Amino acid sequence: MSSDQWLSQRIQKTKQAGLYRELRTMSTAPQPQMIVNGTKQVVFSSNNYLGLANDPILIEKALKTLQEFGMGSSGSRLTTGNTEWHEKLEQRITSFKKTEAALLFSSGYLANIGVLSSLPEQGDVLLSDQLNHASIIDGCRLSKAKTVIYQHADMNSLEVQLKETQAYTRRFIVTDGVFSMDGTIAPLDQIMKLAKRYDAYVIVDDAHATGVLGEGGRGTSELFGVSPDVVIGTLSKAAGVEGGFVTGSKVLIDFLLNHARTFMFQTAIPPVSCTAAYAAIDIIEKNQDKREHLLRKIKIIKSTLDTMGFKVYGQDTPIIPVIVGDAETSVQFSKKLQENGIYAPAIRPPTVPNGESRIRLTVTAAHVDSQVEHLLTSFKDIGRELKVIS
Ligand SMILES: *Cc1c(COP(=O)(O)O)cnc(C)c1O
Repeated sequence: MSSDQWLSQRIQKTKQAGLYRELRTMSTAPQPQMIVNGTKQVVFSSNNYLGLANDPILIEKALKTLQEFGMGSSGSRLTTGNTEWHEKLEQRITSFKKTEAALLFSSGYLANIGVLSSLPEQGDVLLSDQLNHASIIDGCRLSKAKTVIYQHADMNSLEVQLKETQAYTRRFIVTDGVFSMDGTIAPLDQIMKLAKRYDAYVIVDDAHATGVLGEGGRGTSELFGVSPDVVIGTLSKAAGVEGGFVTGSKVLIDFLLNHARTFMFQTAIPPVSCTAAYAAIDIIEKNQDKREHLLRKIKIIKSTLDTMGFKVYGQDTPIIPVIVGDAETSVQFSKKLQENGIYAPAIRPPTVPNGESRIRLTVTAAHVDSQVEHLLTSFKDIGRELKVIS
């Protein structure tokens, strides 16, 4: 059998399982209204939570750096890729996050893999939330430590696991700050208390919370007033650029610089991304109104959908999962939204449990009121038509 024949069979299986994915082409800059596959759509599925991905200030700063420093970084941070802009950005992240030190990675994905594959050793155990992001799951797989899953945000389940793993050398609790499919916020205050009681370390992946949660947009640590041992973040969501980072103590950062393979053996992000991200953090720190604007929209959308009779999951985060029920109806719902000029994907099993297929909405500070109103009337009409609400 040729490899193509064999792969076609595997793709066929993927299709049969309803897991086949296809690309969509965006022909405009990231903004609320985009050309998606050739048609105008208001996009309610982007991670550009503060609208910074197309911000004129970021673009202006980036253009200047591009002319001075060129395009590619030319090497790993440990060879020729480390410019003054990488260091300035790390200092900026450190002061923004109010920690001791920060280390840049090429993405949040690689930051997670770098931390989880290097920090815990053989004989240690990783206690991982059931709904953690794929990059955490992959990081756990690469770690020499054992991985134990606890029920999603369930402190009883976590405590049971902490009790059962006392024989291991070290315990690391690893959790998303905001969960990407449910829009739930990890109860970090309680996790920190349990960690203290059972002598465990806490690693938080704050990809969706950075720039969004907490009074100053510093994420779930700020929201709960706690300091986990390791906080991971991304510059690709609310900050609107690219790149991942880890914050924590100076010793932690020194350790990762020497042991995290995804840091050591990867080409540094281009200096232009560093300047843009630096400008983004300035905006996040100084412009509270963007965040307030976003939170207002989150509350309006959630409460209106709730009043209409929809089951809406999660807390006040830009991720708003609206439960439709069976997979087929969810797909139909998403198609009808698209006919109304709204792009929001249906999420089906096995990504989510059976009977909990959903439309996963995300909202940004850049959406205007008329777009939100159009979204809500479309939900009401389609919801009634498909008998999701009465
Ligand atoms: C998006 C995301 C990541 C990956 O971040 P990138 O910078 O896009 O690689 C990691 N963890 C979580 C929870 C995410 O949502």
